Amino acid sequence: MGSGSGLDYLPGYLELSFENAVLFFYTGVLEPFLFNFVEVFYFSHSKISFILFVAVSISLGGVFEDLRAESAAALSDIGFDGYAIGGLAVGEGRETTFRILEAVTPLLPAGRPRYLMGVGKPADLVGAVMRGVDMFDCVLPTRSGRTSQAFTRRGQVNLRNARHRDDPRPLDDQCACPACAGYSRAYLCHLVRSGEILGLMLLTRHNLTYYQELMAGLRAAIEKGELAAFAADFAARQESGDIEPL
Ligand SMILES: [Zn+2]
Repeated sequence: MGSGSGLDYLPGYLELSFENAVLFFYTGVLEPFLFNFVEVFYFSHSKISFILFVAVSISLGGVFEDLRAESAAALSDIGFDGYAIGGLAVGEGRETTFRILEAVTPLLPAGRPRYLMGVGKPADLVGAVMRGVDMFDCVLPTRSGRTSQAFTRRGQVNLRNARHRDDPRPLDDQCACPACAGYSRAYLCHLVRSGEILGLMLLTRHNLTYYQELMAGLRAAIEKGELAAFAADFAARQESGDIEPL
């Protein structure tokens, strides 16, 4: 557990917040158990498969660089088809997540896909790709769609807000998804305020379309050697915020 240990350390840690208590339990108790499980599970099966990559090649170590390095080295020695990075984005904050990614990704084998588990918002994806991550999974685009939230090129938009009630413009005029191509903000606002399931379905389709387009844009930028410029443009657009109300 980093530099602190013993009875004088635990109470001080637990006093900070409930989230930190959960993080302490996860890092100090659950992760060592999971890591042991990784080795037992791996050596009890002869075939290396994509399922093994997803299921057990999980780099752990919480927010401690030394534990992360230990985990990455052990997993690299086993030699998986790809490597998952787990135990991040659990309340430690984006700055810490990025700091740990900068420490972990160089330690994982080059040429093997790196999968950051359970992340995240569009800015998290761009920041993680900048730090060497290749793959993601997250409930956010679909769950947010079910709570009236849309992710767009100009940041997050809440379709429940009254400002959209009489707005005939699409959610995003550059998006080809069914929600943007076929309906106005006013209609989407009406749907979510009325509890119509179509509203949640359309926003989910939009969010999934936006996430796929964002990742396609990142892939294209990498191929052209323009990732830094892409990230700067992405941040500027997100910062600009939603279109002005009518
Ligand atoms: Zn759309």
